Amino acid sequence: MSVNTTLPAALYVVATPIGNLDDITRRAVSVLSSVDVCCAEDTRHSRRLLDHLGASPRLISVHEHNERDRGHFIVSLLEQGQSVALISDAGTPLISDPGYHLVQAVAEAGFPVHPVPGVSAVITALSVAGLPTDHWRFEGFLPAKTAARQKALQACSESPHTLVFYESSHRILASLADMVSVYGGERRVVVARELTKTFETVLRGSLDEVLGWVEADEHQRKGEFVVMVAGEERADQTVGLDPKALADVLAPLMPPKQAAAAMVSLIGGRKKEWYELITGLNKAD
Ligand code: SAM
Repeated sequence: MSVNTTLPAALYVVATPIGNLDDITRRAVSVLSSVDVCCAEDTRHSRRLLDHLGASPRLISVHEHNERDRGHFIVSLLEQGQSVALISDAGTPLISDPGYHLVQAVAEAGFPVHPVPGVSAVITALSVAGLPTDHWRFEGFLPAKTAARQKALQACSESPHTLVFYESSHRILASLADMVSVYGGERRVVVARELTKTFETVLRGSLDEVLGWVEADEHQRKGEFVVMVAGEERADQTVGLDPKALADVLAPLMPPKQAAAAMVSLIGGRKKEWYELITGLNKAD
C-alpha cells in the first residue's frame, strides 16, 4: 500500500464549496491533493469536485448509515501512517452532515483531527441577512411532520436570538406557514436561497410577506434554503418579569382579552398563551 509522505497521519476535516466552485481555500486544495484517502458522503458527487481540483486521493464512502462502522477501518489506515480527509457533499462536514462519529473514533484512538475551514451555508447566510448576529441559535433541519415541526418551532419561540434553520425545496412552504402560525406573521424573516449559485436570492420581510412571495412564485420554492427568523424582540427586556406574577396583577383590573394584550405589550409573547394563563387563573379563583 502506498503511503503519501507529505502529510502526517491525521484526519483533516475539509470544507468544500456550497455552490460556487471557486469558494475553496488554497489549503483545502493542497490537503485534498496530498492526502492518501478522502472520506466522502457521495463518492460520485465528490469525484467531480476532486477532478475539478486536480486531486486524486482514494475515495471511501462515509455517510450517516455507515460512519459508525467505518471508524475502525479509518483508524487502521491512520495506524498504517496514511493521511485521511473528510469532506461532505457541500460546506463544512458535521454541520447538519455526517462525520461526528468518525471524528470521535479518530480522536479517541489518539490521532490528531485538523480542521481545514471554509464555507458553511449557515455562516454564509448570516453574513448577508442583516439580522443580529452577536448571538444566534442554529436549529438545523426542522422535523418533517407538521406537529413535530410546530413543537420544535414553539420550543425556541421566546429566544431573543436570531433563529437559523436549514430547509429544502420540499418543505419550505410548509415550514414558513408553520412559522407564521407559531411566531405570528409580523416577525422579521430572511430567506437565503441558492447562495453563491446562479439563482441566489435573499428575501427579507415579515413572515407574512415572505410566505406570500414564496407562495406566489414557484421559483422561490426551488433549491436550497437557509431561513433566519428574528429573535423575540421583547424577551431580552423581560428578564425578571414573571408572566404569572404579571397576570396576577392584570387579571383583576381588566377583561382577560385586554389583560392578555397588555401582557404582549409589556413582555412580548403570544396573546393566546397569556389569555390561557389569565383564564386559567380566573378558573383557579
Ligand atoms: N454541511 C453543510 C454546511 O456547512 O452548510 C450543510 C449540509 S445540509 C445537509 C444541506 C443544507 O444546507 C441545505 O438543505 C440548505 O438548507 C443548506 N444549504 C446548503 N447549500 C446552500 C446554498 N447554496 N444556499 C442556501 N442554503 C444552502
